[in-house]
Amino acid sequence: LASPDGSTRPTIFAEMTALAQSTGAANLGQGFPDGDGPEWIREIASAAIRDGANQYPPGRGIPELRQAIAAHQLRHYGIELDPEREVLVTAGATEAIAAAVLAFAGPGDEVVTLEPFYDSYAAAIAMAGAAHVTVPLVPGPDGFRLDSAALDAAVSERTRLILLNTPHNPTGTVLSRDELQLVADAARRADALLVTDEVYEHLTFDGDAHTPVATLPGMAERTLTISSAGKTFSLTGWKIGWIAGPAELIEAVTAIKQFLTYAGGAPFQPAIARALVDGDADIAELRDSLSARRDLLVAGLREAGFEVVVPGGTYFVCADAAPFLAEGDDGAAFARALPGRIGVAGVPISAFCHEGSAAAQALSSWVRFTFVKDERTLRTAVERLRELG
Ligand code: PMP
Ligand code: GLN
Repeated sequence: LASPDGSTRPTIFAEMTALAQSTGAANLGQGFPDGDGPEWIREIASAAIRDGANQYPPGRGIPELRQAIAAHQLRHYGIELDPEREVLVTAGATEAIAAAVLAFAGPGDEVVTLEPFYDSYAAAIAMAGAAHVTVPLVPGPDGFRLDSAALDAAVSERTRLILLNTPHNPTGTVLSRDELQLVADAARRADALLVTDEVYEHLTFDGDAHTPVATLPGMAERTLTISSAGKTFSLTGWKIGWIAGPAELIEAVTAIKQFLTYAGGAPFQPAIARALVDGDADIAELRDSLSARRDLLVAGLREAGFEVVVPGGTYFVCADAAPFLAEGDDGAAFARALPGRIGVAGVPISAFCHEGSAAAQALSSWVRFTFVKDERTLRTAVERLRELG
């Protein structure tokens, strides 16, 4: 029972969480909040269970949630969607990504992503039998930025789709409008579809606003936008995600989704529908508190001696562990030893790269830490990181 990359290993996130648990380490590895989402949203789901929302919901999602997703896209970004035909509810963003890749890419096709990339991208592309081509994001004075020459080299007439991610896991990069325009131009030149994973859309800092690719001129017709309530409302275990875009593309994704999960999350759907309509204050509070926690961790990592790229968004900060590597070690060896050594868990950036790729080599000493943990956990981690010096 091997996964598409031929390995039977658990994902790096599961591995690091298990390691953090067995060593009692502060878990800055897997990106999930260590608190609950807002109580009023959880209450709606509890009431829905009491009131009988316990059988299969409609495969495309309950109408109330599809309407709320369409209203959210309109209110925040001016994107107009028909909730009947242009919105599909999925089992988290993960299912949306897999269903979109399986719907549009197959043997002989190329799918382009940034590198480092979220781990499920490589698996979904492999399941589809397509080839995975990447555009490295390499750190410079302005953070991890898109290289337009690398983008042009990667996108060709063989490109079936570009699977983009902004705000970006693991680097925390929020792609600028100019960078997005480069991607949009490349997609149009290659006549490729754009699938954008925007699960961290609301988690941006320093007034750095997220721009959905679908809002760029002429892009709505070739763009599918993915997001998830897990990140926006700190309810990652509910696995309520969605994908939105042109009706005929959503129809193709629905055809795949119905044989992946068919439907899911019946009692969570009405709760997320209300959250998307009435939850803006909760989103603002999360963004502000996350921004403060980012500052705490960035300062702690710097004091401990790491080089850090300050993230514009997401749950994550990337740090170069080069000063702390033992002879012959890389970031992966460092990250695997760290919980036992000082009681802190992180994830090596190489886990988000193809083995031996240019990005993997350039980032071989880098580690990702998450700051979506309570302040006490972060302070404990920062104190322990000082022991490295
Ligand atoms: N995309 C990215 C970039 C992510 O970071 C994550 C979760 N960490 C997902 C997708 C998966 O989202 P979900 O839990 O909604 O499936
Ligand atoms: N997306 C989370 C992360 O990047 C983990 C989710 C998972 O474990 N699949 O840490």
